[in-house]
Amino acid sequence: MYHVVTQIVEDAGRKKPVEEEEAPRATAVEEDDEDSSSTRKERVLHTRVPAVLERELKRLAENLRVPVSNLVRAVLEDAVNMADVATENVEQRLKNFADNLAQERGKLKRRVQADPLADVFAFQPVKLAATQACAKCEKELKKGETANLGLTEKPRPANERVFVCDACLPAD
Ligand SMILES: [Zn+2]
Repeated sequence: MYHVVTQIVEDAGRKKPVEEEEAPRATAVEEDDEDSSSTRKERVLHTRVPAVLERELKRLAENLRVPVSNLVRAVLEDAVNMADVATENVEQRLKNFADNLAQERGKLKRRVQADPLADVFAFQPVKLAATQACAKCEKELKKGETANLGLTEKPRPANERVFVCDACLPAD
């Protein structure tokens, strides 16, 4: 007796295995997709996020002193700007974001805050004990190199410290 493993469906003369139709779908629901590529109208999206991601987003938003919604919007705008967005759904993008939080943090910070050096009152030349990234140009500043630590009124947690390379050190 035969068991048909792969069903074929006719779709306008094109044959396609049924499995393709059952690819994972984004959980986000967007109302009325018409014209979405040609208009800049803002829409409300609802999506499910894992609890751990929600905590991370809230904590990061608190660190950056911005509303969670601003942060999520920045992440999604980032995703839309990425060339491979077509292969990723919203949920996957948010999961990746959680996985890469450490790297995303600096990038997002610059997006949601106008000037990463705004509350710096002095720069102190330091010899780095760990690799950092320039807060301005994102150049990698390696362990053992000299860089400039931005001093702020309120001490920042380790992952929020601001370092700049010599080239990005404000002149005045
Ligand atoms: Zn720099």
